[in-house]
Amino acid sequence: MKKILFLIAIWPCLLQMVNAQQVGVWKIENGRIESPNSKIDTLGFQYWEAVCSILPNDLLKKYVVSLRLFSDGRNEDLGGMNQMDETVDFWQVDLDTADMNIFSRDSIEILDYTHTLIHEFGHLLSLNSMQIELSDDEIQDPDRGYLTDEGYAIKGSYLNLFVEEFWEGKLLRQWDRICEKRNQEKLADRLYQFYLDHSDEFVTDYAAESPEEDIAESWTFFVLSDQPLKSDIKNQKISFFYQFPELLTYREEIRANIAFIPKSYVENFKNK
Ligand SMILES: [Zn+2]
Repeated sequence: MKKILFLIAIWPCLLQMVNAQQVGVWKIENGRIESPNSKIDTLGFQYWEAVCSILPNDLLKKYVVSLRLFSDGRNEDLGGMNQMDETVDFWQVDLDTADMNIFSRDSIEILDYTHTLIHEFGHLLSLNSMQIELSDDEIQDPDRGYLTDEGYAIKGSYLNLFVEEFWEGKLLRQWDRICEKRNQEKLADRLYQFYLDHSDEFVTDYAAESPEEDIAESWTFFVLSDQPLKSDIKNQKISFFYQFPELLTYREEIRANIAFIPKSYVENFKNK
C-alpha cells in the first residue's frame, strides 16, 4: 500500500523504486522460506515469520512465491502485493523495512504495519485466480463485470460484488474519466479531489484511488474494527464482508494473531 496518490494506469500498488534501496529478495515455496545461512537471510526469514504470524497461511501458501524487502525511508511506499507474471497465480509480497520495523515495540508503529499487511492480503484475496479471469480487453464489456488491469472480476467475486454495490453508475464513470489523465501530477490532484468530493464514502483517502484499493482498505477496516452500528456508505463497505463466512473466519484468525486491536478504528483513523 502506498500513502501517496500516484500512477494508476498500471497496477496501483506497483512500487516505484526510483529512490528505494533493495534489501533482499527470497523465494517462498509452499509458504516456506529457505532456512537462513547469512545475516541478511536471517532478516528475510524473520520478516517472513512475522508475515505468517499475522496473516492466514492458506492463501500465502497457495499464491505467494516471493518476499522482497526494500526501503525508501519512512512513509512513501509502505509495501505491495505484486504479480510475478501475466497470470494472477504467483505473487510477491514487498515490504518497506523502515515502515514495517518488526523489532519495534511501539504500538502505533505495529498497528500501522499491521494495517499494511492486512491491506496487501486484501489484494491477494480479491485478485487471485479464483477471483479474476484474465483478459486483454482494454475497454470493459459490461456483461463480463468489472475490468481490472489483470482481467475481469468474475461474477460473484468479492470485487465484482463490491463494485456492483458501491461503484456502479456515476461514481465509476467519474473515476474512469479521471484515470484518462496522462499527466501524473494532474491525475494525483484529480484523484485527491475525487476523494474530497466523496470523503464520506471512503474509509481512507487512499481507498478512493480505485475500486481495487477501496476493497483492500475496506477489508482492512472490517478486520480491525468492531462490527459497524452505523449504516452510512463507509460503514456499509465494512459491513459488506460480513456476508462471507470464510472472511469472518479470516477476520477472527487475524485478530487472534495480533496483540493490539484498536478502538473505534474507522472513527479514529487519520489520513497521513
Ligand atoms: Zn494496495
